[in-house]
Amino acid sequence: MPLIVQKFGGTSVADSQKILAAARKAIRAKNEGNQVVVVVSAMGKNTDALIQLAGEINPRPPAREMDMLLSTGEQVSVALMAMAIEQLGHRAISMTGLQMGIKTDSTHTKARIHSIDTDRMRRALDDGNIVIAAGFQGVDDNLNITTLGRGGSDTTAVALAAVLGADACEINTDVDGVYTTDPRLLPEARLMKQVSYDEMLELASLGAGVMHSRAIEFGKKFSVPIHVRSSFADMPGTMIVDQPESSERAVSGAALVRNEALITVEGAPDVPGVCHTIFSKLAARSIPVDMIVQNVSADGRTDVSFTVLENELVPALECADESVVELGAAGVRHDAQVAKASVVGLGMARQTGVARQLFDQLAAEGINVLMISTSEIKISVLVDREEAARTLRTAHQGFELDKPPTEPPPQATLPAKGAKDVADVVARLHGMEDLLIDGISLDETQATVTVCGVPDQPGVADRVFNEVADAGIFVDMIVQSFSRRDSADITFSVPRADVEKSVATVERLRSTIGFERVTHLPSVAKLSVAGIGLRSHGGIAVRVFKALADEDINIAMINTSEMQINVVIDGEAGSRGLAALQKQFGDMRA
Ligand code: ADP
Ligand code: ASP
Ligand code: MG
Repeated sequence: MPLIVQKFGGTSVADSQKILAAARKAIRAKNEGNQVVVVVSAMGKNTDALIQLAGEINPRPPAREMDMLLSTGEQVSVALMAMAIEQLGHRAISMTGLQMGIKTDSTHTKARIHSIDTDRMRRALDDGNIVIAAGFQGVDDNLNITTLGRGGSDTTAVALAAVLGADACEINTDVDGVYTTDPRLLPEARLMKQVSYDEMLELASLGAGVMHSRAIEFGKKFSVPIHVRSSFADMPGTMIVDQPESSERAVSGAALVRNEALITVEGAPDVPGVCHTIFSKLAARSIPVDMIVQNVSADGRTDVSFTVLENELVPALECADESVVELGAAGVRHDAQVAKASVVGLGMARQTGVARQLFDQLAAEGINVLMISTSEIKISVLVDREEAARTLRTAHQGFELDKPPTEPPPQATLPAKGAKDVADVVARLHGMEDLLIDGISLDETQATVTVCGVPDQPGVADRVFNEVADAGIFVDMIVQSFSRRDSADITFSVPRADVEKSVATVERLRSTIGFERVTHLPSVAKLSVAGIGLRSHGGIAVRVFKALADEDINIAMINTSEMQINVVIDGEAGSRGLAALQKQFGDMRA
C-alpha cells in the first residue's frame, strides 16, 4: 500500500479547528488508499512561548532541560491530533521521538539524527492506524530527549519519509508553496511549480524560512520528492525535486537575511594559517559564519571579512580580537547594520554574466554594495540594512522572477541517478545525517585579478564587470571586500590565457573609476570540496583551512555554499593542496 508522510507546521495546528481540519486531510489521504504518517509541530507560537518562559526563570537555561521543555510543545499537538482523528471515526496513535525510535547525537537543541527504527511505526500502520509523529525531537543513547533545532519538524518529516520509503512527503504550511522570495516581504513573489534540491538548500540557508535546510539535505541524499503546499487550500503547491523549474533561466529565487553583522580582521600578515586561526575560534564557540571574503594581500598584509548573525556579534568580536593578538594583525572593524541579499539558480552554473546583470540592476538603483561573494549557483551581496528591502526588490524585478517561465518544468528524474549508490554510502556512514563528501577536485586553469582601492560608490563593480564581459572574458569567482573605510578591493578569477587581457581591460577604467592599482596572480589553483551538509555541519571550512595551513599553503580567495567549498591557492601548491584535502576528508567520501 502506498505510504504518505504529511507534515503540519505550527500555524496549521494553531487551534482546535485547525487541528480538526488537518485531521480531515490525513483521513482523506487514508481513504484514498494510503498508509499515513502525520508529523506535527507545536501549536502556533508555543515553542516561542516556552523559550520565553525558560528565559524568565533562567537567562542561560541548561540545553538538556531546554530540550525537555521544548519537546512538550509537539507532545501536546500529537495527542490532540490523535484525538481529532479518533473523533472523526478513524484509528490513530501518537508517538514521541523515543517511541518512534529516532536516535540522535547528544547535541542538545541542535541534535542530528543518527538512525530511525521503523518497526513500531510499521506495526501501527499495518494495524490500520494513522501514525501521528511528534516533529523536531528524538533521544540520544542515554534516552535524554533532544531537539533538532528551530524549524526541525520539516527534518523529522523528510527523514521519516526516507526511512519508510514513502511515496510522498507533504509539507503543509501557511503559504501555498515555495515562492521566488518570501511573499510576506515582496507581494509580487511568484509561486514556483518546482524547485531543485540544490536551489532550495541555498535559498533556505540564505534566508528563505519556508523549509528547514536539513530537511532538504535528507531529500537530496535519499531522493525524497518534497511537496510543499497549503494546509488550508487544495492547491498544487511546489515540488522540491532534483530538477529546477526552468532549464533556461539563470536565476530561480531570491532571499534576504536582514540581521547580519560584518566583521573584518584588518592587516593580518599574509602567511598560511590566518583563516584557520580566525575561523577555528568561531567554530569552537559554535558561531556559524556566513560570507567569508579574503583579499589577496596588499603589501604583504591581508584582510579577512566575514559575516555572522547580528545576535552572535559580541562573541564573534571576541574571537576576532583574540585573532588579532595571535596573528599580529592591525585591528578589527565591524558594522552591525548590514543585510545580505542573494539570488540563486542552477542556471547560473551555465550562463555567464549573471553577476554583471545583478550589479547593473543595483547600480541603476544607486544601491551601494559592501561585499560580494559568488559561487556556482548563488550570488550574495551585503548592503546597508536600510537598503535591504530595496535590494531584494531590485534583484527580484531585475531577473523578472515574478514572471513564470515560458517552457514547462523539466521532468524530475526520481529516484535520482545514482540514488542507490548514495543510499549505500549513507548506510556506511555512522549516522543518517552525517556529512557526505562526494567530490574533491583541483582546477589548474585559472588566474586572479585584483583591483585594489576602488572607491566606495554605487556602480563600481558594475563598471568593472561590464568592461571585462565586453572584452569577452569569462569570470568565475568574484569577491569584493572593504580593506579601508572608503575603498574596496575586487578580486575575480579568469582563465589563465586571459589574465593579461583582463589586467589591460581593467586598466582602461583607471581614469574613470579612480582605483589605486591592479595586481594579478598569473596561475592559481582552485580546490573544491563538494558534498551534502557542508554548511549545516559547522566547521567543515575550518577543516579545509587547517589541512592547508598544516601544509603551509596560503589561501588567496574563498567561497562557500551549500554544495561546495572553494579555495584559491598559489598555482604551485595545487596537487599538494589536493592531497591534503583528500587525506582530511577521505573517510567521508562517496
Ligand atoms: P511552518 O510553521 O508551517 O513550518 P514556517 O513559518 O516555518 O511554517 O514557514 C512558512 C513561512 O516561510 C511563510 O509564512 C513565509 O513567510 C516564509 N517564507 C520565507 N521564504 C519563503 C519562500 N521563498 N516561499 C514561501 N514562504 C517563504
Ligand atoms: N516547534 C519547533 C519550532 O517552532 C519545530 C517546528 O515547528 O518545526 O521551531
Ligand atoms: Mg517551519
